Amino acid sequence: MKTNNLGFPRIGSNRELKKASELYWSGKITADELLATGKEIRLANWKLQSQAGIDLIPSNDFSFYDQVLDLSLTLAVIPEQYTAFAKENSVLNLYFAMARGAQKGDQDVVAMEMTKWFDTNYHYIVPEFTKDQEFSLFSEKIIDEYKEAKAAGFETKPVIIGPVSYLLLGKEKQAGFHRIELIDKLLPVYFEILKKLQEEQVEYVQFDEPFLALNLSDAERAALVSVYTKINEEFPDIKIILANYFDCFGENLATALSLPVHTFQIDLVRCPLQLDDILESNLLSEKTSLSLGVIDGRNIWKNDFKKSISLIQKAVDVLGADRLFIAPSCSLIHSPCDLDLETNEATLSTEIKQWLAFAKQKIEEVVVLRNLVSGEITENDQAIFEENTLANDNRKKATIIHNRDVKNRVASIVAEDSQRHNPFSVRRQLQIDALKLPLFPTTTIGSFPQTAEVRSWRAKFKKGELSQSEYDDLIQKETEETIRFQEESGIDVLVHGEFERNDMVEYFGEQLDGFAFTKNGWVQSYGSRCVKPPVIYGDVSRPQPMTVKWAEFAQSLTPKWVKGMLTGPVTILQWSFVRNDQPRSVTCTQIALAIRDEVVDLEKAGIKIIQIDEPAIREGLPLRKEEWAAYLDWAIKAFRISASGVRDDTQIHTHMCYSEFNDIIQNIADMDADVITIECSRSQMELLDAFADFKYPNEIGPGVYDIHSPRVPSSQEMVHLLEKAAAVIPVDQLWVNPDCGLKTRHWDETKKALIEMVNAAKQMRVAV
Ligand code: GLN
Ligand code: ZN
Repeated sequence: MKTNNLGFPRIGSNRELKKASELYWSGKITADELLATGKEIRLANWKLQSQAGIDLIPSNDFSFYDQVLDLSLTLAVIPEQYTAFAKENSVLNLYFAMARGAQKGDQDVVAMEMTKWFDTNYHYIVPEFTKDQEFSLFSEKIIDEYKEAKAAGFETKPVIIGPVSYLLLGKEKQAGFHRIELIDKLLPVYFEILKKLQEEQVEYVQFDEPFLALNLSDAERAALVSVYTKINEEFPDIKIILANYFDCFGENLATALSLPVHTFQIDLVRCPLQLDDILESNLLSEKTSLSLGVIDGRNIWKNDFKKSISLIQKAVDVLGADRLFIAPSCSLIHSPCDLDLETNEATLSTEIKQWLAFAKQKIEEVVVLRNLVSGEITENDQAIFEENTLANDNRKKATIIHNRDVKNRVASIVAEDSQRHNPFSVRRQLQIDALKLPLFPTTTIGSFPQTAEVRSWRAKFKKGELSQSEYDDLIQKETEETIRFQEESGIDVLVHGEFERNDMVEYFGEQLDGFAFTKNGWVQSYGSRCVKPPVIYGDVSRPQPMTVKWAEFAQSLTPKWVKGMLTGPVTILQWSFVRNDQPRSVTCTQIALAIRDEVVDLEKAGIKIIQIDEPAIREGLPLRKEEWAAYLDWAIKAFRISASGVRDDTQIHTHMCYSEFNDIIQNIADMDADVITIECSRSQMELLDAFADFKYPNEIGPGVYDIHSPRVPSSQEMVHLLEKAAAVIPVDQLWVNPDCGLKTRHWDETKKALIEMVNAAKQMRVAV
């Protein structure tokens, strides 16, 4: 039984790659220095895995930005707009220009589109295909890295995204064809790669085909059969590991298992039951092996060895140990690097730390598990097994995890708890009477510029260089100035500006029980950008109000309404590492109850309008459509629980900044927020059509300008967008606001843009 790894974090355990890339982009280090950093990281990763005892060590899992973009460059899928740039620049700079755009002299190219990698928080660069797309071997990165490893003494398993998934990850730049039709033109370049690898005497190659976890069309399934049959015919001696992850094969099971590959890598964390399906199906040919993904590559919990051993044993009984590999469930790029670096007892106690494993520790788990099952157990393995058993037992019994009151409260939730007292039609009149807002009321999404100065106050406060009262004074001053600006510019519903918040999830996590924080638990989100999700380890509760003080303070400054600002339960869940000892729905409901208490406290403090942000509702959707309903059911209910503790005349807002509402518009309506603000301007209000077609009943604020750009839009532009909105949504349902929060903008452009926005609303009021 061998050990297998699918991919290792490439950002470096101290984010060395992030730092080097950013220095290179700002011209502070040379290309050679950046390349050297990349090489060091690759070598360190190979060494670490080799020393730990991994048999199949991945290569080509490294990337300077994104593995999908790497492959686009490998296959020469370079959109035409970069042709001129490519002629005058290095391949490395072309690569970064495609990733992030480039402005240099008279050269000005925009970045390619980026989107989420399945249901993770990793973003990839979307390949673009034309109808007559040509493919050729443009970059030999995969071969070079294999050779590089070999020269350093490491035999590796090159990793590549399979041709079917690669095409499906992209999009058509023209109408009139489907990208899967390009498969026969694409395959020869894969052959070329395999031929070169064969010349280097490669033994294993891992083909990632994660689309096997999604609903596929017949044509897509046929492409898989054709591709892997041809590869097998042409390269019978290369052992192909076909990797699927993030869900089971589902209705693709028979197709998948019919493919003539050496090994199937399956995700037994997301989908442990599929092992029985596969073993009982009789579809696995006698020569085929299974790589059992038993270690969770997406979360930070220590594996439960006893559970894994019984799962592995089941496979051993049917297939025999020789046909098995032990592996993580997916690439470890979704895990932080190294738990050993966590030394801050105050935010991550030793008690909690003993329950965790990051990438380096997961590698060790893979090896120890293999040893435990195969019977070649060293003293060290035995010690790690005992430690694992103890940690898992401790975790189950730990008092810090369990909170009786929280569990009882969740158990006694009744239907009314997720229901406002009256339907929107009734609430609406009460809110009109209470709030007395004009037509086209203006507001913002919450945050105002988080300047370097504001961030420096927080850093100083954390270091003890500012006292609590000094820090509070500074934040108060900034808040007051923001309130004054909003009053002067004529905005109708004000916000306090969120200056006291580091991040919209961390800020709440820090104040809720059941959350812990890492010092260095970074995970790549896109390019050099990393996130450090909080760890939800226990029952969630709210020991005391979290935002009331600042909301009250801001409201005390002005006779206008100040909106209370909260992050919703689904978004807090989605952007954290979530405990795996109870269903996500239960954890989400616990968070919902905590937010509900905050909403009620805000109302008691005199706040009449409360916004509960849920930008992550859509990204939580499961990969397979048949699983959507179950998720949406608990997710929407969690939002409703958080929002339903208030009087009818208290107005609940929500905010989302994800495109494509079409397929979940009914569910968004079911959230029953009195007002929803959405990102809309980049699509020129097209996104609003879903709401219009549905006859969305409640009020809606389609974003009238893009906050991702420093550009100041004119009031005419915004009037134009509002007219488009007014053509499809009744005017008494419309609000006027930017696309999202303003925290990444500068004050200068923010002020100008908001003054133009108020102007646009005024023009609209005159016109109707
Ligand atoms: N209230 C948050 C802000 O304005 C919302 C951020 C978001 O939607 N991602 O910053
Ligand atoms: Zn937003």
